[in-house]
Amino acid sequence: MREQIAEPSTLPTPDAVPASWLNFLTLLPPLPPPCNAHGSSALEVLSRIRLRAVLEQDTSTDTAIPIPRPVQQLYAQVGRPTPLVRADALEKHLRTRGRIYLKREDMLPTGSFKLNSAIAQAYFAAQEGVKTLVTETGAGQWGHAVAYAARLFDLNTIIFWAGVSARQKPGRHALLRMLGATVYESPSRHTAVGRDVLSSGRHGSGSLGSAIGEAISYAEHHPTVRYISGSNVPHVLMHQTVIGQETQAQLAARGDDADVLIAAVGGGSNLIGLIAPYLAIRADRGTRPLFIGAESAAAPRLTQGTWRYDHADPFGITPLSKSYTLGLDYELPETHVGGLRQHSGSTAVGVLRREGLLDAVAYTEREAFETGRLVAHTEGFLPAPESAHALRAAIERASNLNRDEAMVVCVSGSGLLDIDGYIENLDQRIEGEDSSC
Ligand SMILES: *Cc1c(COP(=O)(O)O)cnc(C)c1O
Repeated sequence: MREQIAEPSTLPTPDAVPASWLNFLTLLPPLPPPCNAHGSSALEVLSRIRLRAVLEQDTSTDTAIPIPRPVQQLYAQVGRPTPLVRADALEKHLRTRGRIYLKREDMLPTGSFKLNSAIAQAYFAAQEGVKTLVTETGAGQWGHAVAYAARLFDLNTIIFWAGVSARQKPGRHALLRMLGATVYESPSRHTAVGRDVLSSGRHGSGSLGSAIGEAISYAEHHPTVRYISGSNVPHVLMHQTVIGQETQAQLAARGDDADVLIAAVGGGSNLIGLIAPYLAIRADRGTRPLFIGAESAAAPRLTQGTWRYDHADPFGITPLSKSYTLGLDYELPETHVGGLRQHSGSTAVGVLRREGLLDAVAYTEREAFETGRLVAHTEGFLPAPESAHALRAAIERASNLNRDEAMVVCVSGSGLLDIDGYIENLDQRIEGEDSSC
């Protein structure tokens, strides 16, 4: 096997998997803590159904958390460090004076960065003697990553998948089952929460929120099963900091540095993962590098939501956590951008925004698909619709870049399994092409 993992306590190098996850919590003002809604014991339930290792990470005050060696080895095996490529063709098309780099998380074998946390959590589950994991998935990327990571450690997985997304993606659905995962479309009849949703007549098409509610409820009633999350919570955001550490080392090896860092924002894990090593740098330099979060205009939390306590699911099962939220009654339109489709977000991203450290932009699904197509024309690969939001933000900023400036975009996932969404938007794009020149 390639020897490309860093020794503990070494700084990241461009060819090696980082030795630690960065505890970004130590670089931000204290996060307002989650709390129970009146009469609820959601916090206690969550601490009972989560893995011990991740609960420790959420409260750790260490600035870095060593990545266990087997996890480092698996990161290398799945292709970390992922490539950081200069988007020459896109730069040329845009006639920008600056430089655009793409951090290609879409190159991981399951097609997204989600594998970084899935491998870590599957490893901790195996260490703790857990045999079955339950989780939710929105777009299906997290479910896919968990299904594969579970195979690596011989674990069973039960995945509650937002019904609307599951039906849009028969290909990914087949892959999950091929990997041995048990997939339930949410709302389902397998949990009390699902049955309540079905009889209420609301949220019938399902969302990430209904799937979260069901996964928690399932773990609560199956004591040997552990519940894992794919975004929002601190430990997951921490696992993604390999993205930013690699980026920093890869840029340095080219004699370059980042002036603008852009990622799509759902729960904020690829965004925080990308910018974590730059938080301290920005604190020193003032306004640079600039951080931009790109969200979906169908769920415009950062651009239109309010900063307050809310539940992450529409039924009030999860604890109250502070974030920019549209309110749990917000009816999320059906889109192909499942990864950005939630009414609230993470506290960490909210704090960044609140502190004026994060710029936010929102794009429509159509703008995202147009952008995906432009990237396919220029760079030759199809980005996930979520990633296309970040790429759109980069394209819009490209004209303002100076000659000495570099921008990094996290390509959070591949669009190949979202081909149906691209097909539906094929006719519209011709119009988009005419107007974009
Ligand atoms: C999950 C996902 C996102 C959004 O999740 P974050 O936690 O905000 O990073 C973005 N892009 C892809 C491809 C995803 O799978």
